[in-house]
Amino acid sequence: MQGITKLYLCECGEKATWSYVLEEKSSYFCDECVPRGDPHNYRYIDKNEPTEMDIPFIWIEQDKIWTHVDSQGRQFPYMDYRYNKNGFKKTEMQSDYLDHIFYTTEHLSFCEKNTILNDAIDTSYLWWVDILDCNVSFSREKINMSIEQIMSKFNDRCHFVIIYRRGYEKPFHGEIGFSTLDNNKNTYFLFIYLNEEKFYELIKKYKLIERKY
Ligand SMILES: [Zn+2]
Repeated sequence: MQGITKLYLCECGEKATWSYVLEEKSSYFCDECVPRGDPHNYRYIDKNEPTEMDIPFIWIEQDKIWTHVDSQGRQFPYMDYRYNKNGFKKTEMQSDYLDHIFYTTEHLSFCEKNTILNDAIDTSYLWWVDILDCNVSFSREKINMSIEQIMSKFNDRCHFVIIYRRGYEKPFHGEIGFSTLDNNKNTYFLFIYLNEEKFYELIKKYKLIERKY
């Protein structure tokens, strides 16, 4: 079998620039999806007062706890995450495995995204909400939330994805959803699953285009 070199992708389809390597399993994230906010990076004012050299920083607790941020005002990921702006390479054996297909969403207006989400929920066979609360856990947890509640968190800054999830074995499924990207708050993820037929109807209806790398 012949090996092909590919880049690791984030779950959302973007090139991964952060990796978190564990013995059993490695995780790869793009700059937007990587979990940020490591309490190890918190500085306490009684021991460590911020100086001009520490700019940019933000207050975690006003005049008590502060932390360094990047030029976009975002906290840094956990210290175990490695960064590589060129991404991370992998060699894959050619096999029956079919890659996921990611669709471009950048051209869609907020209103169009809203319509697609509502349409997807109506035709889905499964949907759920996950939360990532970095103060509690490094991994996502499923939570009970109504569709109205999660949709009220959808805004223009959210990371919106449309993916045809494939793999080794059929049935494949369509995945539509978003994650919230509010700094210093819990991150919410909405996952909506559609069977192939419903997914392709939606792709056709909104004239969605596959993303090219
Ligand atoms: Zn991502």
